[in-house]
Amino acid sequence: MPGILLAVIVGLAVCQVAIFLTTIYLHRTVSHKAITMRPGLQFACRLVLWLTTGIKPRQWAAVHRRHHAFVDVEGDPHSPIIEGFWQVQLGNVLLYRKAAADRAAVDRYAKDLVPDRWDKVFDHGLIGLAVGIGILFLPLWGNWKLVALAAGVHVVSYLLLNSAVNAVGHTFGRRPFNGNAANSQWLAWLTAGEGLHSNHHAAPTSARLSFHRRELDPGWWFIAAAKKLRWLTVRHTEPRVSSRARRTPELV
Ligand SMILES: [Zn+2]
Ligand SMILES: [Zn+2]
Repeated sequence: MPGILLAVIVGLAVCQVAIFLTTIYLHRTVSHKAITMRPGLQFACRLVLWLTTGIKPRQWAAVHRRHHAFVDVEGDPHSPIIEGFWQVQLGNVLLYRKAAADRAAVDRYAKDLVPDRWDKVFDHGLIGLAVGIGILFLPLWGNWKLVALAAGVHVVSYLLLNSAVNAVGHTFGRRPFNGNAANSQWLAWLTAGEGLHSNHHAAPTSARLSFHRRELDPGWWFIAAAKKLRWLTVRHTEPRVSSRARRTPELV
């Protein structure tokens, strides 16, 4: 296989690992407590997220909870309705960094997430990313150009897909529930289920984002398998849609 093709495949594979961990760990477990993981799985998620994204879970959860507290109104850190679609689709990382730098807001929205001794290591996001990039030398024959290409593919695709959940997910798609959040199955394929965003806003504590047989949530497939293996438990097995979100109750 030509090296360039291999580097692109490695970059996309690393991106998908990070995407799965973002939805399963950062979003459904830490932010919404829809899942409770056994300590071993939790540690593995933290370690791999550190290596692939350098994100601090406490900050991510705080910014995300603030989004749920102010959906598409003043105070929402990344609303395409307020900021504009392209500002969120292309500038989400800047909006995130601005919201994550607000220490008072992070403390307020993540006060239940008490830092532990591992946070002293995992809070150094750049070291995690540097070690992660170092690991890429193994499958890419020690070739730094291929490593740079794979890392670039991963970073760009990861940022664009996360932005799409916030931008596309509040602009285009089906809206079975009240609000601007929308469902897009194509986006759900690329984001391990996050594209089913209307469902998520209607039932934020649900570990499963698909509510119908025709909706597919790849993140849930992993969660269901891990549940069978008793690596984790879920808060409720059926989604609980809030009465405020309900527009067409007969569909749920
Ligand atoms: Zn949203
Ligand atoms: Zn959420």
